[in-house]
Amino acid sequence: MSQTQTKPSEIDVAVVGAGFSGLYLIKKLRDQGFSFRVFEAGSGVGGTWYWNRYPGARCDVESMQYSYSWDPELEQEWRWSETFAPQPEILEYANHVADRHDMRPHIEFNTRVEAADFDEATGRWGIRTSTGETVSARFCIMATGCLSSPRPPEIEGVDSYQGPTYHTGEWPHEGVDLSGKRVAVIGTGSSAIQAIPVIAEQAGHLTVFQRTPNYSIPARTKPMNAQYEQEWKSNYQERREIMRRTAVGNYFARADLAAADVPPEERRKTFESRWAVGGTRFMSSFNDLATNAESNEAAAQFVREKIREIVKDPATAEALIPTGYPIGTKRICADSHYFETYNRDNVRLVNIKEHPIHRITPKGVLAGGEEHEFDAIVFATGFDAMTGTLLNIDIKGRSGLTLAEKWEAGPRTYLGLMTAGFPNMFMITGPGSPSVLSNMMVSIEQHVDWVTDCLANLREQGAEAMEAGLPAEDAWVEHVNEMAYKTLYPKAASWYMGANVPGKPRVFMPYIGGCWNYRLKCDEVAAKGYEGFRLEREGSNAASQAAE
Ligand code: NAP
Repeated sequence: MSQTQTKPSEIDVAVVGAGFSGLYLIKKLRDQGFSFRVFEAGSGVGGTWYWNRYPGARCDVESMQYSYSWDPELEQEWRWSETFAPQPEILEYANHVADRHDMRPHIEFNTRVEAADFDEATGRWGIRTSTGETVSARFCIMATGCLSSPRPPEIEGVDSYQGPTYHTGEWPHEGVDLSGKRVAVIGTGSSAIQAIPVIAEQAGHLTVFQRTPNYSIPARTKPMNAQYEQEWKSNYQERREIMRRTAVGNYFARADLAAADVPPEERRKTFESRWAVGGTRFMSSFNDLATNAESNEAAAQFVREKIREIVKDPATAEALIPTGYPIGTKRICADSHYFETYNRDNVRLVNIKEHPIHRITPKGVLAGGEEHEFDAIVFATGFDAMTGTLLNIDIKGRSGLTLAEKWEAGPRTYLGLMTAGFPNMFMITGPGSPSVLSNMMVSIEQHVDWVTDCLANLREQGAEAMEAGLPAEDAWVEHVNEMAYKTLYPKAASWYMGANVPGKPRVFMPYIGGCWNYRLKCDEVAAKGYEGFRLEREGSNAASQAAE
């Protein structure tokens, strides 16, 4: 008998995904005594770190800050080799956690959840998987990640290409040998910016097709220093608490000063020192870079000058210079010698705004009237972010309403945790929560704690169902928008805005009000008996509406 057949088909909780959210959910649900099953499309744990194995992949959050806080012994034992961990090491960490806490028996690998149907008569979710099984669960938790649906390149002729193609977000597990090959990379987002320097070292020749230049700050990753590591390990709990109390869930110095209040030469000094330290903390050089257009332009100008200094060929430098959108409003990148890579003899940049890609041909890429021949093409074309994975599952709530219908004009959630009309379905780091604007580990832990505390609370109260109330949801969506439009973020055609997917509604999806404020709001809502949510108690059809 297979492992799947021995599993119960009626459970308390179905969890979709075994990335860092799914793994922590296993720990919590097991400790709380819920019956649950975890479905994972991949053959292993790790989520984004399982799929994104492209050369050069690493985290842009410092290693010491990108780990779970709930296993204090592991936090002391685990050794990161570099200040910014490379993907294989983060994946090793996820695997280690899964083994150390005996989590694998709870996970069904190679099992994609295809549909989730809410049955109003029974108040249960029917979860249909790619193995053909349908599981009945009282609760469904979508731990599906924010960047987990790779976007195929919408370029004519893709299927005609005769060589191998790779998407950074679905990189072959056995690795790819690009040595000596003529390689194309299409896209210049965070993934490409990390991959390009490494591919350039292997490839015989690399051609980068760039549509929009990106701002990138050197990550300056270095081998872990024992003293630095010890400093963290001796103060872990205290520092983690400080991280939780910040806007972005990271531990680093934030300027309490507006660039607008500082003379240009002093501003420059600050930018220089942040550039020298490296990493995305550059955007915290001053406290008004996300809100004041002039301050932002000063930071952008500084980075443009750096690009001109680094890239030797003036025409290539100009082509690499981002203009037309504020720095940081498309996700800021952190690189290891990205701009320097364009000084190599075997690397060529094609600006496809000037030389548009007409189509992919059997031999390569036809752009600006020139056919470029390649032995391999790498698509670093990104993801259908935040909503793509959820909408790829055929989710039906009350009265057969699909999530796709409900979110036709953009995602609508209450606190990014639930969406009205879909009772007992929770999202971990869903749209409308800080998620991608924060250290994901901090946000994942906060959401998993909140959701599992909520489940325990419902059980205690004898509540059968919980659902976001429409008035609270409407108010939250309005608040999320209001906060976004106080910043410069909506000025960029970014994936935060859904702008990278043709036809996707232009809505700023994450919540920009900050992790700590957001946590306080979630805690307050819970303390007020889940204010704004509707609870249904056993044996009663009457929904109690916690003051909406
Ligand atoms: P991305 O930021 O969306 O970048 C996709 C790139 O492909 C963009 O340059 C885009 O150009 C280009 N592109 C898309 N379709 C194209 C087409 N048909 N023709 C030509 N170019 C096309 O995706 P990503 O680089 O995978 O990064 C996504 C997110 O994942 C990041 O923003 C970050 O949050 C996360 N990530 C994090 C790390 C890290 O921790 N260091 C690393 C990688 C990714 P346009 O800009 O013109 O649309």
